[in-house]
Amino acid sequence: MGEFTLELNDDQKQVRDWLHGFAADVMRPAAAEWDEREETPWPIIQEAAKIGIYSLDFYAQQFFDPTGLGIPVAMEELFWGDAGIALSIVGTGLAAVGVLANGTEEQIGTWVPQMYGDATDVKLAAFCSSEPDAGSDVASMRTRAVYDEAKDEWVLNGTKTWATNGGIANVHVVVAVVDAELGSKGHASFIVPPNTPGLSQGQKFQKHGIRASHTAEVVLEDVRIPGHCLLGGKEKLDERLARAREKAKEGGERVKNAAMATFEASRPAVGAMAVGTARAAYEVALDYAKTRVQFGRPIIENQGVAFQLADMATQIDAARLLVWRASWMATAGKPFTAAEGSMSKLYASEVAKQVTAQAIQILGGNGYTREYPVERMHRDAAIYTIFEGTSEIQRMVISRALAK
Ligand SMILES: Cc1cc2nc3c(=O)[nH]c(=O)nc-3n(C[C@H](O)[C@H](O)[C@H](O)COP(=O)(O)OP(=O)(O)OC[C@H]3O[C@@H](n4cnc5c(N)ncnc54)[C@H](O)[C@@H]3O)c2cc1C
Repeated sequence: MGEFTLELNDDQKQVRDWLHGFAADVMRPAAAEWDEREETPWPIIQEAAKIGIYSLDFYAQQFFDPTGLGIPVAMEELFWGDAGIALSIVGTGLAAVGVLANGTEEQIGTWVPQMYGDATDVKLAAFCSSEPDAGSDVASMRTRAVYDEAKDEWVLNGTKTWATNGGIANVHVVVAVVDAELGSKGHASFIVPPNTPGLSQGQKFQKHGIRASHTAEVVLEDVRIPGHCLLGGKEKLDERLARAREKAKEGGERVKNAAMATFEASRPAVGAMAVGTARAAYEVALDYAKTRVQFGRPIIENQGVAFQLADMATQIDAARLLVWRASWMATAGKPFTAAEGSMSKLYASEVAKQVTAQAIQILGGNGYTREYPVERMHRDAAIYTIFEGTSEIQRMVISRALAK
């Protein structure tokens, strides 16, 4: 595993600059239009697929970067371009990670390519865990998966909500309860293959921000899937459940903590998205402050404006450093003893909300209109303190780690 360094290597710099070019030339100019349309930006995803940004190869390359910085660098640039379009591009990757992390080699080889399709026939994937009564409280999940031994099939029933790409995805990864006694340790993940009867899209949500990203309910009614669609396989699940039952007898806390560790590793990626949005709004505000003249001088010459920009720049850098540290720790297999993954997500998401609000203030009336992008960026930024664990949940995780 690589030593921790803040210096990107030549390959990483090249990828960053390539993504920046796509974000600046393709995503930015299209951002306002897709925000208004509130639709999945298929043409932009196709364009990303054509040049290899929307592909399993690209995502896997960043995911397995030995320094741990591949994903945060990529996320920052894409979300700098536009958060809604970027989530439409990386949403599939979030589902693919579920398969890469828990699937067998055969499952990875079969399903992940179908999540992306190819440049001429682009497909999406969705990760469906949240439910109407199980948001922060994942253990309250109700969607059940029951094994039909005679047919070697699993039968899924329940309603998922808030699924990014839910209902329009080719492949859905669905988390369901297989043993209700074990809380979140009694959950398992399943692949629902394309066109499986019984899976349908429920309500599509109209959102405050990231409006180019499709978010919807997914209804599962007697969805029958082959036994081989259980991620990791039945043998591994049975072993895991047996171990969890043993541990539950010893004391529930250990079971809970193991589940938390998985989230710790994925949260820095959301932190990196927040850094991208914050940096985008800061750059617009900085440019504006240098050129907008009031009282005979650029507004940046007022300390009241300049100090805001100084704080914004400092907070963005601090957020990035927390994200990079946590991403490196996840890749290097370092234990998150102080919940460093949650820290990075908590701080970066709060910074994004604050910085985008300050950017509106610095642009004055213009900042409040849709003529300038900071209004959209502020709406987009509000998601970061909510999904992948709210700020309150991050504080809960961090304070539990401190109290140990
Ligand atoms: C745009 C969008 C996309 C999403 N994409 C996906 C996806 O692809 N797949 C998926 O599975 N999910 C997805 N989610 C769901 C997301 O992860 C949940 O919304 C999130 O976990 C919060 O759950 P909730 O909305 O039910 O809020 P709740 O859990 O009901 O929380 C409501 C409020 O109560 C607070 N709260 C709850 N419990 C506590 C506590 N113990 N202490 C203090 N405060 C508490 C929360 O912090 C929050 O402020 C998405 C959500 C959105 C909005």
